[in-house]
Amino acid sequence: MRDSPNPIHISSAFTNDDIVFARHRRLRPRGKNLGSCPLCEEGKNFPSIIPNKYSSLSDTQSSNNSPVAKGFCGVIIYDQKHNQELLCNKEMGAEVLRVILLRAKNDFKRYPFIIAFENKGSYFGASLPHPHGQYWAMAWIPRQQKTYWQNFERNQCLLCQSKSQDLVIYENSLAIAEVSPYPLLPYEVIISLKKVHKFPKDNDLYSLNEALQGVYQAIENSLGGPFENSLIAWHLPPQGDFKKYHFHISIHVPHESLSTTKVFGGIEFLTRTYVNSFPPEEVATRLRMHINAQR
Ligand SMILES: [Zn+2]
Ligand SMILES: [Zn+2]
Repeated sequence: MRDSPNPIHISSAFTNDDIVFARHRRLRPRGKNLGSCPLCEEGKNFPSIIPNKYSSLSDTQSSNNSPVAKGFCGVIIYDQKHNQELLCNKEMGAEVLRVILLRAKNDFKRYPFIIAFENKGSYFGASLPHPHGQYWAMAWIPRQQKTYWQNFERNQCLLCQSKSQDLVIYENSLAIAEVSPYPLLPYEVIISLKKVHKFPKDNDLYSLNEALQGVYQAIENSLGGPFENSLIAWHLPPQGDFKKYHFHISIHVPHESLSTTKVFGGIEFLTRTYVNSFPPEEVATRLRMHINAQR
């Protein structure tokens, strides 16, 4: 089974973790000495989502009980230029989100779970210098995600409940940002629309992006300059049902300082018990101070 040319999906009988075997990914281009950039030659209209050439999932039809890891892995290219980053101007983040939502609307007809994100820096596995994001549509719902959704539902939407003022750090007319009450890394912030369960409209996209930019800059200022590693995620609802879920964006930054990062050690790997030396209330106080100074 593991010699198959297709990626294979299994669920661990020990822990129920999902594992994909994708041997062809050993061949993917990586690092700084690539010669020409593979993403510079792709696409014409930006931002756009193109198929990942070294996809961890297979988009071809196969029988339902096959172990093939079914799904679609896309690369979100923001622009043809290397200096056009996700947060480089007021519009880019909103445009990227619009492209993700458009694509997802269609893919939800085939796949129950879709998530998009940007890995920046080697910490989260980014391997190409061209600014880009990732788009994953999967035929199964990952174990951790199932729990995440169940908890949202059981507690009548965790994001609609009154926010702890100790953790709220930013607000504009439509969006609100709070430091995650349960951070695994030093800086983790959740950005959501205020009390709205619906497909985001243009104004919502701009407000969310404005919040994302403001918060990211505050983390930069708090660390003392541009930092190397971050993960930004766009959390789409189960089966694409925006009425039953609170769309949100999360930011995850492993930096404890510009040159040091929190690394998951043995206890985290073995037991999923996370040790974080940055309590969220303290991080919120610091970020709020920088956000107020930016205004
Ligand atoms: Zn390039
Ligand atoms: Zn809600």
